[in-house]
Amino acid sequence: MNSTHTDQILDWYAANARDLPWRAPDATPWSVLVSEIMLQQTPVNRVLPAWSAWTARWPTPGALAAEPSGEAVRAWGRLGYPRRALRLHQSARAIVERHGGEVPTSHGDLLALPGIGAYTAAAVASFAFGQRHAVLDTNVRRVLARLVSAQEYPPKSQTKAEVRLAESLLPLDPPTAARWGVAVMELGALVCTARSPRCVDCPVLGACAWQKAGRPAYDGPPRKGQTYAGTDRQCRGRILAVLRDAEGPVGKPALDVVWSDSVQRERALDGLVSDGLVDPLDDGRYALPG
Ligand code: SF4
Repeated sequence: MNSTHTDQILDWYAANARDLPWRAPDATPWSVLVSEIMLQQTPVNRVLPAWSAWTARWPTPGALAAEPSGEAVRAWGRLGYPRRALRLHQSARAIVERHGGEVPTSHGDLLALPGIGAYTAAAVASFAFGQRHAVLDTNVRRVLARLVSAQEYPPKSQTKAEVRLAESLLPLDPPTAARWGVAVMELGALVCTARSPRCVDCPVLGACAWQKAGRPAYDGPPRKGQTYAGTDRQCRGRILAVLRDAEGPVGKPALDVVWSDSVQRERALDGLVSDGLVDPLDDGRYALPG
């Protein structure tokens, strides 16, 4: 990898980037933050309508902070991993309390917001404010593993070496570094995909260490599958869907019918309550958080 390869990826991005609304010049920092939280575990095509609805309903952190957290959970719909809705709501309230309703610009202030981790803080600082930070999501980690480290897949959990590598590749000029981050991410999403990379379309095919090494097969520990059917997560999703679709609190029988395995169902419900996604009421009914 040298500066020519950096330019090749930037040029490829300029010609091939998807036209996503959170990348538009007029996208607000808040809308970028919402997109980053949604995109963490949900594909772009499912995020697009949810992001549009959220940012139309709550165009500022203050607008979301003014509503009960249950409304955030309700509007999260079927995006999955609904604790993210609570995290966004908590962040919105913290932004109002600590920063007068404006998303903070500094990486440290972003990281200090509830539920905002290193990745999201770096992504918002880069994409909303044009700063220079290494942004390492699964797409970027996979591209760098192949392109530079000759590995088909990155390690299971992010290592310090990956962060050092990503930082060493960042262009010096902050706006270019920010564009480079999103460009590598897009290359991973569109070309250097997990299962079948389209190397013939890759702008840095000639520089790719994995290609030069003869595309060695992955030989690390087993990678996590994406099974969903029959999991506690699916059970939680069904319970939450009942509460989202109801006007108000619902009785236990309405939740019991969504899942036949009572042990798993009770475990899922307990988990939702302890995560703050469901409120058990004194009268025995259940509701979204107030
Ligand atoms: S050549 Fe293939 S494996 Fe290497 S970075 Fe490009 S798409 Fe990924």
